[in-house]
Amino acid sequence: MPSEVSANDPLVARMREFGTTIFAEMSALAVATGSINLGQGFPDTDGPDELLADAINAIREGHNQYPPGPGVPELRQAISDHHRHCYQLDYDPDGEVLVTAGATEAVTAAIMAVADAGDEVVVFEPYYDSYVAAIALAGARRRTVTLRRHAGGDGAEWRFDVDELRAAITGSTRAIVLNTPHNPTGKVFTPAELAAIAELAEEHDLIVIADEVYEHLVFDGLHHVPMATLPGMRERTVMVGSAGKSFSVTGWKIGWVAAPASLTGAVRTVKQFLTYVNGAPFQPAVARALAKQPPHYEAIQARLQDQRDRLCAGLATLGFDVVRPQATYFATVDMHRNGVEFCRDLPRVAGVVAIPSSVFYDSSAGDSYVRLAFCKRTEVIDQALERLKGVAP
Ligand code: PMP
Ligand code: GLN
Repeated sequence: MPSEVSANDPLVARMREFGTTIFAEMSALAVATGSINLGQGFPDTDGPDELLADAINAIREGHNQYPPGPGVPELRQAISDHHRHCYQLDYDPDGEVLVTAGATEAVTAAIMAVADAGDEVVVFEPYYDSYVAAIALAGARRRTVTLRRHAGGDGAEWRFDVDELRAAITGSTRAIVLNTPHNPTGKVFTPAELAAIAELAEEHDLIVIADEVYEHLVFDGLHHVPMATLPGMRERTVMVGSAGKSFSVTGWKIGWVAAPASLTGAVRTVKQFLTYVNGAPFQPAVARALAKQPPHYEAIQARLQDQRDRLCAGLATLGFDVVRPQATYFATVDMHRNGVEFCRDLPRVAGVVAIPSSVFYDSSAGDSYVRLAFCKRTEVIDQALERLKGVAP
């Protein structure tokens, strides 16, 4: 039965649970209260100078009209070269690579391409918020599998139960959304975990939508393993990346998909009616940055790892129960009390904004966790730590 539409609440029922994203809400709160924003995950420094100059030049050189639907050829080629160089994965730049309006659009279009009304999509909780909104947009249903913290104290200790994943898969399941390295836990899924997911995907003929935007933001010499590198998985994986994270330009919203031609075509069909295209001058600039490969990543990675260490060590000294992430922009603290209440009061009592992790869960498993972003300048992290004195559990 169609949902009722009214002028008072014109929003369709399936989107009503979403409201305003927590990131927009918390960034606005940070501005309104003059707080330090450790909520939304964006770096407070710009990407590499050369990259910025390349985008400015691209505007001057006239890259200001609609780029081709699948993305400019130079960028598709650079993405293909990147995947071969970093992962020995071969994708044809013509037909197997698609440029999108950030990873958000890539994941949304992929979900809408493969999941129909009434179908089911499995996500790990905590989940990145746009996944579940996209599942709702598709009219599909989500099934969540919980990552739980085990003793040991770092990101490796977030684990899921394979039996729980198996039980979440039904005859209506079409896809699993996997995010590794993972926001908000900072977990890098292990090869054994990826193999277990791959085995179930093959057994049940599922597509894996692999959001790998933090692929290069991995610490301590660990390595990100793309799902598509597992035996048999290239054929059923939509691999998603984003320049926002790899080059610290989150506002540019240049993302991409790499997948077999049939899957890329399916995603493109949806994508072309979401935005059609975006970011004409940014696409050639990102192509050049991708082509340069390691130096950019190493610099960004080294800086972020220092920032992680600074925030985590500082929080631990203040008495917080910190889960050290293996990757990403985010650390988690267990407040051993309600995280929403803590985050609601924090701007007023300490002048700091953080995200209650419970917004990334359907279950109550994340009620006491709080996410803090460390992709901020040293002096900002130090000032935040100073302000957080006295609020540890
Ligand atoms: N996926 C994850 C896991 C993210 O954390 C983010 C944003 N930080 C995105 C997707 C969105 O990426 P984009 O800005 O490229 O749309
Ligand atoms: N992905 C970023 C985060 O997790 C925020 C992106 C957004 O605001 N949508 O904080």
